[in-house]
Amino acid sequence: MKRIFGLETEYGIAFTAGEGRRLGPEEIARYLFRPVVAWGRSSNVFLTNGARLYLDVGSHPEYATAECDRLPDLVAQDGAGQELMIDLLRQAQETMVEDGLDGTAHLVKNNTDSAGNSYGSHENFLIRRTMDFAHLTTVLLPFLVTRQLLVGAGAVLPAHVSMDLRPAEANRANPNAPQTVVPPLPADLVYGLSPRSDVMWEGVSSATTRSRPIINARDEPHADAEKYRRLHVIVGDSSMSQTTTELKVGSAGLVLDLIETGAPIEDLTLRNPIRDIRHVARDLTGSHVLELASGRTLTVRDLLGIYLERARHLVEGGHHSLGDDATAHRVLDLWTRMLTATESGDFSTVDTEIDWVIKKKLVDRYLARSEAGLADPRIARLDFAYHDLTPGVGMFPKLEAAGLAARTVGAEAIARATTEPPATTRAAVRGRFVGAAHDAGRDFTVDWVHLRLNDQMQRAVVLKDPFDPTSESADTLIDAIARG
Ligand code: ATP
Ligand code: MG
Ligand code: MG
Repeated sequence: MKRIFGLETEYGIAFTAGEGRRLGPEEIARYLFRPVVAWGRSSNVFLTNGARLYLDVGSHPEYATAECDRLPDLVAQDGAGQELMIDLLRQAQETMVEDGLDGTAHLVKNNTDSAGNSYGSHENFLIRRTMDFAHLTTVLLPFLVTRQLLVGAGAVLPAHVSMDLRPAEANRANPNAPQTVVPPLPADLVYGLSPRSDVMWEGVSSATTRSRPIINARDEPHADAEKYRRLHVIVGDSSMSQTTTELKVGSAGLVLDLIETGAPIEDLTLRNPIRDIRHVARDLTGSHVLELASGRTLTVRDLLGIYLERARHLVEGGHHSLGDDATAHRVLDLWTRMLTATESGDFSTVDTEIDWVIKKKLVDRYLARSEAGLADPRIARLDFAYHDLTPGVGMFPKLEAAGLAARTVGAEAIARATTEPPATTRAAVRGRFVGAAHDAGRDFTVDWVHLRLNDQMQRAVVLKDPFDPTSESADTLIDAIARG
């Protein structure tokens, strides 16, 4: 069984001022994208590794990985995005110094800023058009509401669930736009699983329904629309940890495999998913009791356990889409260990692998050593530092170096992924085209499906099958470029 995976990450921007003038996020974004514009004459480009790098609304730089048909490739491509961002940040920093600006620009791979804006990590999964989309989302939603127990980024949240934190009207019109929510009150806080849960307002909807959904139903397949559909999950947190990324996307991939193979799975539809997602976020033990539409009740751990056993069965039968069995077994193993740890309260078996657990250890240590409570600004700074990519300042590389954060993909593979596309999808064709056209100084336009040379002949190639790493017509075009 095969599937295409893609991850979009919006990065946060911040600035710590020195003596001089404060820079706004838009100015920093302009500095960041200067080399991109110089390279591709636009702040919206496709790279030789097949990925898309662009600056969207609200000055959140975004990196969308190339199409991957193996989960380890996706982790490498996501890591490559991070490396490219760090590289841009380094260059921006230098230019800012040359321009006499004093202060440090920060790039953060998190999902909320200090003003209460929330921005995204979008998971893309190719699904077959023959699937009944309504059925698929019915089975997937209860999983996505509870998955944060396994893979949340960790966040300080107001202790009490409120259904009043309505997103600002203006931003609700576009579920993909960053949105503003009322910042949490300083008192009465808890350490919770996910910063995204409080900004989710609907299960499934398309952009036109004016609220931020867990699944964005906008139908843009970026592929042969008769055969395929692209599932766009926007509830997840950006992950710092590779193992968290792997479990986040891998577990969802396995649940999709279950649905697409027609494996029997009972109806676990939640009576009130949007209320539940907030309660789930505030319970680190997975004991919160969910009420199903059927009237049945079960805990978060029970529900995730049901999906886990089904997924295990599927993997044992050899039917999964994660790319190789070793990866699938790693996903099942970490999923199992997370359920055990949340039940026992002993997190020592997972405390280098899951963002919210790794971060919690840091927060707990800090609280134990000082008088600080969760409302202390130093805790917010620690949270920020966990996601900060700024070289020398960000905490995560230090955690990795100290063995406190596990990796599945090494630095070399990630470095390679900054220039090389996944070899087994159409991204390989795109990467070759972009490389050839750019090297030859040709004017070209690319999107996920099209390659075009903007010369008098306007030759274009359509890549409708994301699984196909070959294209004769693209080869012809690339040859033509090479001949000049
Ligand atoms: P935007 O984010 O601008 O609203 P978008 O949702 O189309 O638009 P992009 O940022 O362009 O998103 O990223 C698209 C993502 O979908 C990429 O990660 C890409 O690898 C992935 N992708 C492309 N084609 C498919 C496909 N057929 N199935 C699943 N994923 C795909
Ligand atoms: Mg995008
Ligand atoms: Mg998107």
